[in-house]
Amino acid sequence: MVGTRSGIRVLVAGGAGFIGSHLIDALLADGARVTCVDSLLTGRRANLAHLANDARFDFVEADVTEPLPALPRVDWVFNLACAASPPHYQADPVHTMMTSVLGTGRLLEFARDGGARFLQASTSEVYGDPERHPQQESYWGNVNPTGPRACYDEGKRSAETLTFDFERQHGLDIRVARIFNTYGPRMRADDGRVVSNVICQALAGDDITVYGNGEQTRSFCYVSDLVDGLLRLMAAETPLDGPVNLGNPRELTVGALVDLVVRMTETPSRIVRRPLPVDDPQRRRPDITRAETLLGWSPRVPLEEGLEATIAWFSREIAPRRARPAI
Ligand code: NAD
Ligand code: UDP
Repeated sequence: MVGTRSGIRVLVAGGAGFIGSHLIDALLADGARVTCVDSLLTGRRANLAHLANDARFDFVEADVTEPLPALPRVDWVFNLACAASPPHYQADPVHTMMTSVLGTGRLLEFARDGGARFLQASTSEVYGDPERHPQQESYWGNVNPTGPRACYDEGKRSAETLTFDFERQHGLDIRVARIFNTYGPRMRADDGRVVSNVICQALAGDDITVYGNGEQTRSFCYVSDLVDGLLRLMAAETPLDGPVNLGNPRELTVGALVDLVVRMTETPSRIVRRPLPVDDPQRRRPDITRAETLLGWSPRVPLEEGLEATIAWFSREIAPRRARPAI
């Protein structure tokens, strides 16, 4: 794949975050020039520090809810800007909603004015607590519009609406990826999502927190697979006609995920129950028929392999901090 995007110019909003930074690495490895716009709300400079001397990369610190600063003309715009973990997006719900609505609107205008192709990072949360299983793109979802998750779920649903309206009204070339739970290196230790929580708790020997009875399910996709899907979706030249699910169809309960991490880390940690958060979806698994058919994409990294790489990364991340002597 190296060099296949030689000369292409790309804007990645939210590129200092977990998925965005991996996407930028893949784009640069393929020969693209990349500008990252990020407010560093949940993203980190450390995720991009290895690119400091790369002349094909630049970083612009900006909040997409504000008028955008001067940016170079690009061919592709990826919009990943939005806090993605429940504790982070619920910390300032008004800003989360504004990021998806105002921020996406500004980036869509930027893409329209520069004639760029636009990809919106949407989410399986648009299906809410789904009444259909597995979730196909044709399902309209079951979302509580006034609950604590709504700033994210309804924000992302509005962002999808805006994106399709720019296609209808302005002829913009758009793509919408509905991303299911994704994990891997560069998640934050304080991210609050289940994979990072459980791995960090296991490595530290702390209590492992299971919310509710642990019978709720999720389907976890390793980040390199997801990035491959995003790139294929952006590069596709065939008509897509609607959003595309990207995720790993292997579904397991939260309890089973915890058992797996406990076995893999050989931790002495205890498992403790905590209340199930409000509106926590009970089941989630993507139907990826459209991604398979339209993009020739399906995930390749087995859960055990992805978890091994993630555990190894967190071990390196956490170890130096824990080894530091108390002052
Ligand atoms: P992340 O929190 O690591 O990354 C989000 C990035 O957006 C961060 O760098 C953050 O600083 C930036 N950001 C947030 N608000 C901003 C604003 N107003 N202006 C500029 N930058 C802003 O999360 P992630 O897991 O990498 O998710 C990336 C995208 O993928 C998000 O849009 C998320 O909704 C979507 N997504 C992720 C998952 C997942 O499982 N990781 C699942 C579904 C959808
Ligand atoms: N969860 C858990 N323990 C944690 C964090 C999350 O049991 O320490 C549960 C959470 O209630 C949900 C599932 O794990 O049922 C996935 O949560 P996450 O925040 O990772 O993703 P999302 O709910 O957005 O799919």
